[in-house]
Order: sequence, then C-alpha cells, then structure tokens
Amino acid sequence: MRQETLQQTMNEQIKNELYSAYFYLSVASHFEASHLTGFAHWMKAQSQEEVNHAMKFFNFLLQHGNRVALLPIDQPPSDFQSPLDAFSQALENEKRVTSQIHHLHDLALQEQNANAQVLLQWFIEEQVEEEESVSEVIEDLKRVGEDADAFLQLNIKLGTRHAEEESPLVGESSPTI
Ligand code: MG
Repeated sequence: MRQETLQQTMNEQIKNELYSAYFYLSVASHFEASHLTGFAHWMKAQSQEEVNHAMKFFNFLLQHGNRVALLPIDQPPSDFQSPLDAFSQALENEKRVTSQIHHLHDLALQEQNANAQVLLQWFIEEQVEEEESVSEVIEDLKRVGEDADAFLQLNIKLGTRHAEEESPLVGESSPTI
C-alpha cells in the first residue's frame, strides 16, 4: 500500500472544501425556492467561505512547489425536510471536515512540515468557529419552534450576515508561510 502523504491528502481536502461549498449552495437553492431569502443569504455566504478554504489549500500547495490535481466533487443532497434538517446536515458535514483537518495536522506533524502546521492551526481554529456558528442557528431554530413570527425574525437576522471580504481566487489571502 502506498503511504499516505500530506501533499496528497491536502490535495483531497481541496475537493472536500469544494464539496462543502456545493453543499451550502444546494441548501441556499432550497431556501430560495422556499422564499426564505435570509436563510439563503446565510448559506451563500457560507458557500463562499468554503471556496476560500479550498483556495487556501490550492495556493499553499502551489506556493510550495506542488502540483494540484482537481478531483471530482460528489453531488450534494438537494432535499431537506426543514431548516433544522438542513442545518443539522451542515453540522454533520462540518464535524467531518474538522476530523479531516485534524488528520491533516497529524500528517504535518509526522512529516515535520512547519509551514503546513501553521496553515492547519488556522484551520483547526476556523473549524471551531464553523461548528459554533452552525450550532447557534440550530439552537435558534429549536427555540423558535412553531412560532411563525420568531421564525421570520430569524430569517431577517440570518440575512444580515456579512460575507468575507478576502478574495483568495486572486491570491490575496494566500498564507504568507
Ligand atoms: Mg471549510
């Protein structure tokens, strides 16, 4: 069996982050169809953040002299029973990504790659925030329950989320390590 390398696994993580972007975009489409524009806005902003994550790995690999081989992205689910179901699936996905990031960090330690360790340390902290922000909406949804007014207030609140300003597609946010 070929030994798993940090480089290969990081290359796969580009796909995993883009899958997350795809997943959030699918949920955004579902919310748009339900005229829940605040919920849809939150999901689009999250999707963009996931593209940024993918680009951090993409840029890191290229900056360190590696080739990137883009892999096929799985089709995300498109049916969601409720907003709570959609956010619960999002939390499951984020937990999976958190374990992928920790695994990458373990590989970076094994390979004594200090630059990758710094990058992955950023991702470890980012994942705490990602799980927290999804969990917060889950808690809000549980509190709202069947209260239609409170639900619409939550829709408005989620519509105020600011998108990240950085634009890694042009390399500005590449980690300087
Ligand atoms: Mg991510």
